Amino acid sequence: MDLLTELRSRPLIFDGAMGTQLIAAGYRPVESPESWNVSNPEVVAAIHRAYLEAGADIIETNSFGGSRSKLTAYHEAERVVELNGAGARLAMAVRDEVAPDKLVAGDIGPSGRMMPPLGDATADELRDVFAEQSEALVAAGVDLIAMTTFFDLAEAKAAVLGARAMAGSLPVLISLAFKPSPRGYRTMMGVTPAQAAATLLEAGADVVGANCEITGEDMPGLVAEFRAATEAPLVIQPNAGQPSLVDGHTTYGETPESFASFMPAIVAAGANIVGGCCGTTPAYIAALVAALRG
Ligand SMILES: [Zn+2]
Repeated sequence: MDLLTELRSRPLIFDGAMGTQLIAAGYRPVESPESWNVSNPEVVAAIHRAYLEAGADIIETNSFGGSRSKLTAYHEAERVVELNGAGARLAMAVRDEVAPDKLVAGDIGPSGRMMPPLGDATADELRDVFAEQSEALVAAGVDLIAMTTFFDLAEAKAAVLGARAMAGSLPVLISLAFKPSPRGYRTMMGVTPAQAAATLLEAGADVVGANCEITGEDMPGLVAEFRAATEAPLVIQPNAGQPSLVDGHTTYGETPESFASFMPAIVAAGANIVGGCCGTTPAYIAALVAALRG
């Protein structure tokens, strides 16, 4: 499947959350989630398998926090190549077995560092951090790079530049986390969809969009703001509703069916790739597939 050609003719479907699935399988934050690519590969493989069996066209590697800067918190900074490579090979092996025509995206999240005035990271340092992780994922054979849940446009630009330098002709996707405000949608750092699209496409992204923070109900308006600013392909991954704490566990408000019910409007507004973020499970992706493909 050629991603950038295919998404022009039909909406493609991403998978759902990895982190909440790992926690459900017993992961606790005494080690990095990415270390489970090596220590508990059967758990990660089973999550990938469930998303492919639910009908996802693209699965994301277990590498959201696999950058050197994030792994440092677990004293695993020297494992960037090992853990990202293992995550990519694991996802590709499941894909090859279950659904060989589907795609594996190398997932990359924020660095955990801030640029001035909030922190001391430089754009060049962050670009190098993202390039290192991208190189490890690309070398292992992923089909595309998917960077998700960014808030700061300068960091997101560094991420695209780093990925673009290593990805060759592979597609680079990037999405930010927006919330509605009285003046339109903004990230926590005040970035608008139009600013994100202009800066990140210029930096070399092929697909831009939004994930996390909000539910499917708030997404059509956000997609419309993106569409007013760009013709580029859009990726949209809402949460499974608003989080709330019940008996010490985070739960999300939408059922698989109510989550999926917003998707036709999101696609009609202009989204080309849709999937799920926090709280979504294979059941949510199966409902999404049913809502879009009948
Ligand atoms: Zn999320």
